[in-house]
Amino acid sequence: MAATHHSLIILGGGPAGLTAGLYAARARMDHLLIEKGAEGGQVLLTDWIDNYPGFPDGLSGFDLAEKMAAQAKRFDLHSMFGNVISMDLSAPIKQLELDNGDQLSCDTLIICTGASPRMLGVPGEKELTGKGVSYCATCDAPFYRNMHVAVVGGGNTAVQEAAHLTKFASKVTLIHRRDELRATKVVQEKAFANEKIDYLWDTTVTGIEGNEGVESLRLLNRDGTKSSLAVEGIFVLIGVIPNNDMLPLDMLNADQGGFIPTNCETNTVIEGVFAAGDIRSKKVRQVINAAGEGATAVLAAEEYLTNLN
Ligand code: NAP
Repeated sequence: MAATHHSLIILGGGPAGLTAGLYAARARMDHLLIEKGAEGGQVLLTDWIDNYPGFPDGLSGFDLAEKMAAQAKRFDLHSMFGNVISMDLSAPIKQLELDNGDQLSCDTLIICTGASPRMLGVPGEKELTGKGVSYCATCDAPFYRNMHVAVVGGGNTAVQEAAHLTKFASKVTLIHRRDELRATKVVQEKAFANEKIDYLWDTTVTGIEGNEGVESLRLLNRDGTKSSLAVEGIFVLIGVIPNNDMLPLDMLNADQGGFIPTNCETNTVIEGVFAAGDIRSKKVRQVINAAGEGATAVLAAEEYLTNLN
């Protein structure tokens, strides 16, 4: 069981965490970034990113994550893989516990734990996950060559990924609970021009059926009509839920959805604790915002540490 102390711990290695890592490493702060999966976070699930400045031709989510990590490592980012399971933020020295029993402590903590795909919560979903039910078109689209698949959701992710899926699938049916998409207009226009995508409006999925794999969906229209749709795959792209299992939500004054409120300098209600990226309570969840917040958080942490001394 090891115990180490750092001036700054950054929890999470998505765009917010990697940018925080870049700023902390470049400022030669005594820092540690802890990531439990692959560096990049949700951006790894994004097929193509067209709106990150500095890349006029766009780039894949994977490439952007790799470039962010490489840039932070050029300044000697200190990072480790680890799973933080609990923390005590009640004293100026913050304590973190990892699932292997290791204890870490820090003067400042930047929470960049991000968010994960929301599930539908309908019968058959859990049982058929990985057997036709997917939450990542970028990862799984190639498995559906010449097949009919459904996409659930009406936001940017669902609409963009429906278009991506048409590179492989023979047909993509987008199922949305309202009669209007939430996605940005330019994303909508592209999808509406794509002949391989059709739409089921005012419709929710009430069940997913199949034995070895997905065979059909049970559907319910807003007017009460029940129907069934034969598909070989379903991509559930209906937004995100916060990765907050390890966080003391009451102390952090989490909002109803479990996201962490901060001021515009990324300070949470706990002194020396900051939050950046998708875990923050906010309306806009874009890679560019996450990166900007990561930078802001490090500058705020640096100021806090200066005032401590
Ligand atoms: P989102 O914008 O929150 O959209 C979620 C969609 O799923 C909405 O259409 C919502 O319907 C629907 N939905 C939610 N719960 C549902 C349920 N239980 N059953 C059926 N449908 C449900 O999520 P997102 O598309 O993942 O995007 C997340 C954030 O990332 C957004 O800020 C988005 O703009 C951003 N993003 C940006 C880009 C880009 O700029 N290129 C790409 C991807 C994502 P309603 O519309 O009825 O609420």
